[in-house]
Amino acid sequence: MPARFHRYRVYAKRGWLGFSGRKSADFPKPRTGTRKGLNTLVRQANEDVLAGVQWVSTLDDRTMPICQNRDGMTYELNGGPRPPAHPNCRSTAIPITRSWEELGQDGDEIPEGTRASMDGQVPRSVSFYEWLKKQPESVQREALGPRRFAL
Ligand SMILES: [Zn+2]
Repeated sequence: MPARFHRYRVYAKRGWLGFSGRKSADFPKPRTGTRKGLNTLVRQANEDVLAGVQWVSTLDDRTMPICQNRDGMTYELNGGPRPPAHPNCRSTAIPITRSWEELGQDGDEIPEGTRASMDGQVPRSVSFYEWLKKQPESVQREALGPRRFAL
């Protein structure tokens, strides 16, 4: 397999800013240090291997309803909403890489990772509402608010 694809997969798996110092030497440097500038450069450099982006919300009882709803949603690379959805938003968007098959390559698919929640790591595919269903009633009530909790 070509090494460059592997490198992109590593970036994608760790998140847009999660690469190590060693790997970042291979990276296009934005003129400004802003997150937006870097994200845009990363996306442009990886358009051929990316299928889209996925909204990732924080799994806890302070996540706003709009982010609860968007958690796990996937959007086109050049369209759709992006975090922040509101002031103090903690959501992020992570790149979704094409599979090896979609890239016309042989290779082992990367096993599913995990994501953080207020009660520890959970599989990456767990959505906000799937996570919330398994929480104690007190957490559900706090996350949804009294009116939505009653439904
Ligand atoms: Zn938010």
